[in-house]
Amino acid sequence: MVLQSEMYDVTIVGAGPVGLYATYYAGLRDCKTKLIEMYPQVGGRLISMYPEKEIFDVAGHMKILARDLITQLTDQAMQYRPTVVLGERVTGLRVRGERVIELSTPNGRHFTQTAVIAVGCGAFVPRKLDIPHLIDLEGHGIHYYLPSFEPFRGKKVLVMGGGNSAVDWALSLEGIAAEVTLAHRMYKFQAHEAMVDRLLASKVKVLFPYFALKEVLGEDRVTGAVIWNERSGKEERIEVDAIVLSIGMLTNLEPFRQWGLNIVGSGIAVATDMSTNMPGVYAAGDIATYPGKILLISAGAGEAATAVNSAKEHIDAGDLGR
Ligand SMILES: Cc1cc2nc3c(=O)[nH]c(=O)nc-3n(C[C@H](O)[C@H](O)[C@H](O)COP(=O)(O)OP(=O)(O)OC[C@H]3O[C@@H](n4cnc5c(N)ncnc54)[C@H](O)[C@@H]3O)c2cc1C
Repeated sequence: MVLQSEMYDVTIVGAGPVGLYATYYAGLRDCKTKLIEMYPQVGGRLISMYPEKEIFDVAGHMKILARDLITQLTDQAMQYRPTVVLGERVTGLRVRGERVIELSTPNGRHFTQTAVIAVGCGAFVPRKLDIPHLIDLEGHGIHYYLPSFEPFRGKKVLVMGGGNSAVDWALSLEGIAAEVTLAHRMYKFQAHEAMVDRLLASKVKVLFPYFALKEVLGEDRVTGAVIWNERSGKEERIEVDAIVLSIGMLTNLEPFRQWGLNIVGSGIAVATDMSTNMPGVYAAGDIATYPGKILLISAGAGEAATAVNSAKEHIDAGDLGR
């Protein structure tokens, strides 16, 4: 085990869009900064789940590809030459003393005066359905996220879900796939209204409300689906080559609870300055929660700036006390 005894001012855990922006901001505030990411690449869900999707709701961009946004955020973050540690998952956090926080990973220990937790939804798995053939056909037509749209060219695709992700996937695939159907089992869409309007005006066939996936059809690969209306009980068999399930994530917050962090609902509870219940530990982005929280890149960027400013104040208060 390597002991990274060098002390940093701010260590950011997680290099998604929020962690990258926090890294930039910490550099701007002249903090000695370290960024630790468990994957070999930065970018968070924008790279692992939707690199080719267009994003319409980031300040200053009419639209931008997720991949391009991460390139720009990375360039912005690297300006002040932070130390970047890739491929290390932070598995432990301990407050060792006043302004001494120890972060442990399977490869070693990292020391820092303050930490900003920006781990998104942490260790997550896509929500699945307990229906015939779904698990067997994963990788053979069942998808939970779309790193590339090209495999869907000319195919018939069914998207399940009614949140922003599902609506975005359906619209993104519209011009590529031969046919796109979106089925949603709730009585209301959870996506942004303008995107729902766009969906309803598009060529996507929308089955809504109360349409659920009952069965996946196919032996070696997906050939169809049985959709049923939970209200009327009517079933419909549709021919499809691929099914995209976009019905949420299951998050395991237990590790953060064990670190001593206060977990409320599906995130780490923070105050308005993004501080957690542990001194010197802040949270930002999808993992941070407070009344009125929204899970968006733009909101996370604001939280990152607040978290770093608060961390800087915490560090400066220590310097004054010396
Ligand atoms: C399909 C889809 C489409 C979306 N479209 C939009 C959109 O158009 N506009 C919008 O504003 N939002 C959109 N969102 C939401 C947006 O992706 C999130 O709000 C955003 O990714 C949150 O950023 P984050 O940095 O907090 O988390 P993430 O992007 O999840 O990044 C967290 C990072 O932390 C790393 N990590 C996790 N645990 C550890 C650990 N223990 N140690 C080290 N590293 C760790 C992860 O590997 C990851 O790189 C979409 C989400 C989905 C799923």
